[in-house]
Amino acid sequence: MANCLFCKIASGEIPSKQVYSDDRFYVFEDINPQAPTHVLVIPRRHIATLNDLTPEDGPLMGDLILLASRIAKERGLGERGYRLNVNCMEGAGQTVFHLHAHLLGGRAFSWPPG
Ligand code: 5GP
Ligand code: ZN
Repeated sequence: MANCLFCKIASGEIPSKQVYSDDRFYVFEDINPQAPTHVLVIPRRHIATLNDLTPEDGPLMGDLILLASRIAKERGLGERGYRLNVNCMEGAGQTVFHLHAHLLGGRAFSWPPG
C-alpha cells in the first residue's frame, strides 16, 4: 500500500531496528517503547485492522502469534510473562492502520489496561 508507514518500514523504504524478517512477517523495535521489550510484529501484506481479516488469514495470524511467542521466549520473557496486544480502531488506540501486534515485556503490567 503506497501510503502506509508500516508497508514502507517492512520494505526498508523507511528505516527501523529489525528484530526478525521473513517472507511473510517483519518484526522491529517500537520507536517509542513502553516497556524494556516493545517490538511490533507485522504481516508484510497490508491488512489495515483486525476487522479486515478473512477466514483465509487464520494460518497467517496463527503464525504471527507463534512468532511473537518465540521472540518473547528467546528474550527470556516466558517465565515472567509478557503481553501481546493488538489495538483495533481509534477507540482502542490504533494509530497506524497496518495490522500490528505489540509484544511488551520486561516489566509488570496491570489489568485492566487503561
Ligand atoms: P498503535 O497505536 O497503532 O497500536 O501502535 C502504533 C505504534 O507504532 C506505536 O507504539 C508507535 O510508537 C509506533 N510507531 C509509530 N511510528 C513509528 C515509526 O516510524 N517507527 C517505529 N519503529 N515505530 C513507530
Ligand atoms: Zn501497510
